[in-house]
Amino acid sequence: MSAVDAVSDSLKRMRAEFGDLEGGRPADYIPQLGLADPDAFGLALVSMDGHRYSAGEAETPFTLQSVSKPFIYAFVLSVLGLDEVSRWVGAEPSGDAFNAISLEPGTGRPANAMVNAGAIVTTALIPDTPGEPAFERILHCLGRFAGRELDVDEEVFTSESMTGDRNRALAYLIRSTGTLPVDPVLAVDRYFRQCAVRVTALDLATMAATLAYGGVNPVTRERVVSAEVAARVLAVMATCGMYDGSGEWLLRIGLPAKSGVSGGLIAVGPARFGLATYSPPLDATGTSVRGRAALGALSERYGLHLMLNPALPGSTVSLVTTADDLPSAPSAEHERVLHGKVGVVVAQGAIDFTAAERVLYALDESGADRSGSVVLDLHDVTSVDAVALPMLHTGLARLSSDGRRAAVVDPRDLLGPPELVREGTGQDLPRYATREAAVEGCAKALAGEG
Ligand code: GLN
Repeated sequence: MSAVDAVSDSLKRMRAEFGDLEGGRPADYIPQLGLADPDAFGLALVSMDGHRYSAGEAETPFTLQSVSKPFIYAFVLSVLGLDEVSRWVGAEPSGDAFNAISLEPGTGRPANAMVNAGAIVTTALIPDTPGEPAFERILHCLGRFAGRELDVDEEVFTSESMTGDRNRALAYLIRSTGTLPVDPVLAVDRYFRQCAVRVTALDLATMAATLAYGGVNPVTRERVVSAEVAARVLAVMATCGMYDGSGEWLLRIGLPAKSGVSGGLIAVGPARFGLATYSPPLDATGTSVRGRAALGALSERYGLHLMLNPALPGSTVSLVTTADDLPSAPSAEHERVLHGKVGVVVAQGAIDFTAAERVLYALDESGADRSGSVVLDLHDVTSVDAVALPMLHTGLARLSSDGRRAAVVDPRDLLGPPELVREGTGQDLPRYATREAAVEGCAKALAGEG
């Protein structure tokens, strides 16, 4: 028994708690889906480090169905870009069931890519390439999200082909409004195939985790789509992923999610995890009854709601002080006076927009009477992202234009090479390997000036 088994334990607990939940029944409008074992119940979670946890029937195969939609939307956004895709399919919640005639009055565009009408269009938008027919590209892309090669359940495909008249009718209707780029029969055939791709709950959790991790599969470390595409897909999942139950889902569970009629369900904690459940009995909105209950309980108990961000502790700036308070400050009286005029700000961790704001605020506040020199110690900073870097440069430039002298402890050149720092801050910022050296340097400079 290892420590991380605690994570599997919480999934097992969900399984035990909701495994007997009555209600709902497996979809049978696609006859083959009606044969699923109603008692199968698998749960899986994949972390941003690619750690995989599971409970129950997490390796039982089933077909993707509508859980394929966000991934195909991601693929088509990558191939054609948001502007082109938006000409064909919208991004408004339809407030209708998955198979409704959700077409925008006037343009005829399907409401969004999560309902069948929109998904038939997004699938149809993917072009064949000389080396690879469109469906092969789709299958390949889904496999990269899952981190393994996937295949089609031919029985489910045939079963849906033989009974899928409503989707066929939808495709003809869309074609008549001019928003379907290919023949309706072909479009629906490809869409049914995509719905019949076989996965497990563990695959789904990995696919969800890839969206959570900005488009990089955290298990294989392969980039599947860009971070921008992943963010947009999550936005549409959050507003439209649960069809006419999307508002209620976001209200209560608070995670971008997608359900499918075979009983699969995914939920994404952006930058945190991918979650998936498999349990075939469905409620009236086409959502797995046990999946919904388990994800709802997980969200509530572990505080996973996306909008639940209690003020984070000020962990970016670990110390704001003047140098005479530091243990290494020398004792001579005149030196202590000088050191008292050197402010010190110690930052730590990964610096992004929010963290950079904290650092800049601390720099302003630092030092006696907010004047004199200031040392920014980045020794314990692990990274400075592309947004935070120019913020820090500009902030340091402002300090010097206010007449304050800044120095940095930046042993790993996180602020960039000297030329970049000069360009960003308009000065040759003195850099030191240690805090002591930086304080000493600033004190000397003050003495020289004084
Ligand atoms: N293949 C199914 C259909 O189009 C997918 C629907 C779903 O999973 N909600 O009817």
